Amino acid sequence: MTRSPSASAAADSRALLRAIPKVDEAAAWLAAEVEVAAAAGEMQPVVPSRLLKNVVRELLDDYRRRILAGELLTPAALTRDQLLPSLKKRLTARLQPNFRPLINATGVVVHTNLGRSLLPEEATANLMAVAARYSNLEYDLQTGRRGSRYSLVEDLLTELTGAEAALVVNNNAAAVLLVLQTLAAGREVVVSRGQLVEIGGSFRIPEVMARSGARLVEVGATNRTHRRDYEQAIGEETALLLKVHTSNYRISGFTSEVAAEELVELARGYRLPVMEDLGSGSLLDFSRYGLTREPTVQEVLAAGVDVVTFSGDKLLGGPQAGLILGRRELIEQIKKNPLNRALRIDKFTLAALESVLRLYFDEEQACRQIPTLRMLTASYEEIRRRAQRLRRRLKDLPVARCELELVRVNSLVGGGALPEMPLPSCALALKPRQISLHQLEKALRAAPVPVIGRTEDDRLLLDLRTVADNEVVELAAVLQEVLVAGSNEQVA
Ligand SMILES: *Cc1c(COP(=O)(O)O)cnc(C)c1O
Repeated sequence: MTRSPSASAAADSRALLRAIPKVDEAAAWLAAEVEVAAAAGEMQPVVPSRLLKNVVRELLDDYRRRILAGELLTPAALTRDQLLPSLKKRLTARLQPNFRPLINATGVVVHTNLGRSLLPEEATANLMAVAARYSNLEYDLQTGRRGSRYSLVEDLLTELTGAEAALVVNNNAAAVLLVLQTLAAGREVVVSRGQLVEIGGSFRIPEVMARSGARLVEVGATNRTHRRDYEQAIGEETALLLKVHTSNYRISGFTSEVAAEELVELARGYRLPVMEDLGSGSLLDFSRYGLTREPTVQEVLAAGVDVVTFSGDKLLGGPQAGLILGRRELIEQIKKNPLNRALRIDKFTLAALESVLRLYFDEEQACRQIPTLRMLTASYEEIRRRAQRLRRRLKDLPVARCELELVRVNSLVGGGALPEMPLPSCALALKPRQISLHQLEKALRAAPVPVIGRTEDDRLLLDLRTVADNEVVELAAVLQEVLVAGSNEQVA
């Protein structure tokens, strides 16, 4: 009896399906392999059997699907020797934490997708200390009574900035929402049309305003807003004049906006408060380090602005937090808002924030110890030396694998801060020869410590501004592994 080709293919598929090992059988192979790898120190000694079986089941299901889809595998593909490497690879991937450190070689200092700000050692030590032990989070050690978590950093903030009072919440978006909800719910807030910003991650002033229950009154034009525009908008329903820092864009050309001092003077006449959302508020004047001049938090408060909000993890260089500083009477009102409880700062953040703030009492110390400030104020020469160290570690890498060159580039501040401020920096440019640029990037992302760079033209740039001195050795090892071992695998 002759069979039609399709009938014969169906029979082959059935035979292949039967050749797929049982889950328990393949799990036993993998368990034995784990034991060997653990003895060699290559894998953790105890792998939960549930995890192990899930990995096996997933791989075998994949094969089943492929066979049913008509893929003609050879029966040899389903043997122990062929399956084990794939199983081990999957298991290794599954054992890695989902959330882990990586090397930021993008040159973007305050990189929102890569964790924004790095904490100084002081801050991580303080964080660890309170994380594992009980603390006086809400306990007043002097009176032995219940205390307030806010009091732990309020003195530091008022001393550093000259504000009368301060409050910290989960992040700056929460700070803006909380202030508007407290001071303006059901009433009107006047904002310039040139300042209706959208920040990455869908924070938009008009939408936050709507959620707070305040009504937005837009004034002026996109490029120009005058004092009289604000004045004409003030009425019975006005609760607040709001100024928003246009963090992530610049309006240039024929422009004008009303300075904080002038807005304050106008508001005083109507007994209205002025709020400013500074976004990346900074406590130090970056123009001293050759960066663009931006008003500091102290200057904004000195201009008479009643409430200022800004992020803890942008230019301040601390943990994620929203800082609210200003007039005592207003801050007290904000503290009492029940919404505050939902937006409150957690104890780890508070511990880290306190340490970072303490560093600001000595500006030089702050620039040295706070990674964000250190990276922003690093000189081109310093970064070039770091790039040369990296280059030297890769001197044996064959040119046939990859062309390497040190190049001048511009880093960015990031985090929607100082958007037009290019920082001269030095990068290692890589042009792979045996794999594509796309494959190189992918392999670097898949490394145990992933490396993220940026592509320009047909090269991968690794900007050393955002790579720490103590990451250079690790970075070189990852590159070596990916460019040599990685392309061997590809060829084999
Ligand atoms: C970044 C930013 C925010 C949001 O701050 P988060 O701390 O990210 O919540 C709000 N307003 C402005 C102007 C900003 O730049």
